Amino acid sequence: MSATVWNFNPGPAALPRPVLERVREELLDFEGTGLSILETSHRSPEYRRVHQGAIEGLRKLLEIPPDYEVLLLGGGATLQFALVALNLLEPGHPGEYLITGRWSAKALQEAQKALPLLGPGHAVRATWSSEETNYDRVPRPEELVVSPEASYLHYTSNNTIAGTQFPYVPETPEGVLLVCDASSDLASRPLDVKRFGLVYAGAQKNLGPAGVTVAIASPQALERSRARGLPSLLSYRAVAEKDSLLNTPPVFAIYVLKLVVEHYLAEGGLPALAERNERKARLLYETLDASRGFYRGCSRPESRSRMNVTFRLPSEELERRFLEEARSAGLLGLKGHRSVGGLRASLYNAVPFEAVRALVDFMREFQRRHG
Ligand SMILES: *Cc1c(COP(=O)(O)O)cnc(C)c1O
Repeated sequence: MSATVWNFNPGPAALPRPVLERVREELLDFEGTGLSILETSHRSPEYRRVHQGAIEGLRKLLEIPPDYEVLLLGGGATLQFALVALNLLEPGHPGEYLITGRWSAKALQEAQKALPLLGPGHAVRATWSSEETNYDRVPRPEELVVSPEASYLHYTSNNTIAGTQFPYVPETPEGVLLVCDASSDLASRPLDVKRFGLVYAGAQKNLGPAGVTVAIASPQALERSRARGLPSLLSYRAVAEKDSLLNTPPVFAIYVLKLVVEHYLAEGGLPALAERNERKARLLYETLDASRGFYRGCSRPESRSRMNVTFRLPSEELERRFLEEARSAGLLGLKGHRSVGGLRASLYNAVPFEAVRALVDFMREFQRRHG
């Protein structure tokens, strides 16, 4: 039996313990069938119930309006970067991007690569960026200018690497679809889904294991996606028409996603998750702020993420020691993204308050010894 460890991994990330136990219990014999869900046809009634259960669970948890479609897709959030442009761009109406971190920059690049597939007149462009200040903040609402001619406005609600998060939902002019990469904060707080044309998220941060990507598509987005002549798996419309069963779906990932969603519903849904996530982040930021500069947060206070808390120590040498000693104390996954260095604690839904308690106790003790 290993000692207690706390998981601060950025993704794939912590899963609720009771869900993992349930998976273990059911792994060899799913609902008395004598078979594992892993070796069951995706056209079987057993799997159909799992599939529909995952979609229904997401509808309930996220309060998705009935005229929106929930899609379960492959390829991660990264494939969505191209699919957004392929499905939603209209000629003469550029796609606009808010560049608040590496993932949103990637979203724009991948959309650019998709343009030749769409033909002349299609364009995408950045309309705001915090790259110059190392993505230390998101725009204030009054800084945003969205062209009424745009096809859509794309933004990243939580910047996993930089550790910033939009505290509001951007406004768009009539007819401009709002598109959100919510990979690292979907289901972490209430969301007014009807404000959006499309929301997507890889499941592996707040919702489940890697291998399935959730997309929530408005009727307007599906309408645009119609008749693009896209290969079926790249078309939101085609996937929606087949209930995300156009081909063999990632059955295991969807099965675990369903259990995670049901677990969060039983815990009180988004209000309960948001309240706990808020308490976790507050405790950690208070600890940074009370350290008299020993721990320095990387993002500006008004843009701080509740999901990924990024910070630095006075030297890289101390950061290495911090990571080593944290690991020995059972605090795992605290290394910053390889592109930026420093430290990052990811506090997704499945990370309990006690984990953050253990982290801040360790941080105070580390500062006492090395500060
Ligand atoms: C993790 C992450 C991605 C990449 O997701 P993949 O599923 O690996 O493609 C994209 N955007 C954001 C905001 C992320 O946090």
